[in-house]
Amino acid sequence: MIRAVQADITTLQVDAIVNAANTSLLGGGGVDGAIHRAAGRELVEFCRTLNGCPTGEARITPGFGLPARYVIHTVGPVWRGGKSGEPALLRSCYENALALAVANGVRTIAFPGISTGVYGYPKAAAARIAVAVMRAHEGEFEEIICCCFNPADKARYDELLAATVPPQEQ
Ligand code: ADP
Repeated sequence: MIRAVQADITTLQVDAIVNAANTSLLGGGGVDGAIHRAAGRELVEFCRTLNGCPTGEARITPGFGLPARYVIHTVGPVWRGGKSGEPALLRSCYENALALAVANGVRTIAFPGISTGVYGYPKAAAARIAVAVMRAHEGEFEEIICCCFNPADKARYDELLAATVPPQEQ
């Protein structure tokens, strides 16, 4: 099952939450900052041992102080107009995060809107990619949550999730 909720992702009691990280994996603003604050210092200390993560890939860590058992860190593309491979990179963030989740026995997972904050990816196009990848892997999980930070973001996901014919990816 895939559903959208409006929440602070750091509060969710799921097996794994996904972090929209940067290539250093050492923390930043937005959801990354919120996750590091809630998880505590141990998270950045653990991340330091990973030596970063290229755009489009994913890495897993414990959740430390979070209710979630794991954090799956993935690095979304910075939006540069859409002709620099951004859609394929964003797709691979969702694919790689879900593959790492399955490999670690994760049954419930929550995603923020990767790249849709300071990285500037247009929200509607990003949500279509997110939902298309989630639908392809829905059967591998008990629950996939699209964690939205405001009502407009949740409405966008609710509309996509209600569509009987999966929307075309862009
Ligand atoms: P990026 O650098 O990948 O663009 P951001 O953290 O700037 O990442 O934003 C990604 C998305 O996460 C945005 O849609 C933003 O509204 C949302 N967001 C920010 N903080 C939280 C939070 N605590 N829980 C869930 N979503 C959040």
